Amino acid sequence: MRVERIAVLRDNYAWLLVDELAGEAAVVDPSEAAPVAAKVDALGVRLVAIWNTHHHADHVGGNEALLARYGPLRVVGSCVDRGRIPGQTDEVADGDEVSLGSVRARVLHLPAHTRGHIAYLVDRWLFCGDTLFGAGCGRLFEGTAPELRAALERLRALPDDTLVACGHEYTRANLRFALELEPGNRALCDRYARETAAGDTPTVPTLLGEEKATNPFLRWDADEVRRAVGGGEPDVVFAAVRSRKDVWRG
Ligand SMILES: [Zn+2]
Repeated sequence: MRVERIAVLRDNYAWLLVDELAGEAAVVDPSEAAPVAAKVDALGVRLVAIWNTHHHADHVGGNEALLARYGPLRVVGSCVDRGRIPGQTDEVADGDEVSLGSVRARVLHLPAHTRGHIAYLVDRWLFCGDTLFGAGCGRLFEGTAPELRAALERLRALPDDTLVACGHEYTRANLRFALELEPGNRALCDRYARETAAGDTPTVPTLLGEEKATNPFLRWDADEVRRAVGGGEPDVVFAAVRSRKDVWRG
């Protein structure tokens, strides 16, 4: 399987998965059609599916134009999102398998950014939309902090070499917020220095092992994070970090 990152809109990413044996491709979260079509056509592959992580316009905005251009496509999204994903043909739930040629993806239901948010896990790749970001996580639009923490705890259990292919380029700002909470975290300082030195180059995919070591939204049990928000049970710490980020202006 080949994976291509496609920059879309201002700071979104769509992801193109290609089964090279079959010459077929699926796109995760095409916010807009033109950059996706350009990549599909440049590679000379056949687009057969759209895999959406959730219903927000900056993730499904290109669905209809891609359907118009490439004809009938499988459009996969959560069963919870019925009626909210343009052109949806396949309704999936936690644990379901989605295929592209010989490529198999496992669906993880990760509610709270939206109630129907899902991720697709393919080999080492995690296509996680707006649930987990580089050094951050999505906002709570349709769920609670405990729901999101539970979702992130499932992701935290994945292997360190998992590649986090998220839906936005927010990493550098997120790292500045993380440093306010955990200035004594050496791994975080190193990551910030490295990403700052890299200018405005893409930071994703990120490595889950580095997220576990530096992302405050996966670190509700780290002493420095706990102290920064006044301690408490994991759900309390997580909710406090999320609330603080909601009003953070950098
Ligand atoms: Zn979203």
